[in-house]
Amino acid sequence: MRELTLPEKLTERLKKIYQAMEEEYDEVARRLEFSCKGCPDNCCDSYFLHYTYVEWIYLWQGMRQLPLQKQQEILDRAHRVVRQYADELAQERRPVMMCPLNEEGLCVLYPFRLLVCRTHGVPATMTRPDGRRLTFPGCFRCQKITSERESEAGTIPMVERTPLLRQLALLENELVLDLRDRCPKIRMTIAEMLAKGPPTLP
Ligand code: SF4
Ligand code: SF4
Repeated sequence: MRELTLPEKLTERLKKIYQAMEEEYDEVARRLEFSCKGCPDNCCDSYFLHYTYVEWIYLWQGMRQLPLQKQQEILDRAHRVVRQYADELAQERRPVMMCPLNEEGLCVLYPFRLLVCRTHGVPATMTRPDGRRLTFPGCFRCQKITSERESEAGTIPMVERTPLLRQLALLENELVLDLRDRCPKIRMTIAEMLAKGPPTLP
């Protein structure tokens, strides 16, 4: 089986999407005077699904830069988390498990973390492909700030996710354009992306 790789040109475009999302997040956080500093919670235990081979491949580019022993530790945790997810989902509960890439509260692969990891926290909006508009209020700490702003009749700044999500979808389409029959649609947690190894072509 051949490993699916990300051409340099697409990697550069993905990095630009990530950077743009970070900048938009930082700008909204700055305007709300919001930060994760001192938070008793850690959002890396949230159950999120990811849909692109592009991000899966890039995550593995980061994994490969780690020492082998560290990779093995992460993979052991990833397999454990995948099993725990399955147990929780079987009982119809939304899993709350720390991401296998989180060590002592910090992301081991911070520069390679996925788009969702770069958007969670501040208020955001997006338009789905079917035209439905979604609004995300931000995390509980951010909501406290925005509720005070609202009561002061101030405007709430928000990240508009749609353009960057569209760019990511375009990137994904370019990668799998001629491979759709060999690359079925995916819906995976980070733990699964790690436990399965990098994506391969049958
Ligand atoms: S996003 Fe919010 S809840 Fe999550 S760690 Fe930051 S401050 Fe805490
Ligand atoms: S990849 Fe990093 S930032 Fe994202 S959930 Fe895992 S530890 Fe947290």
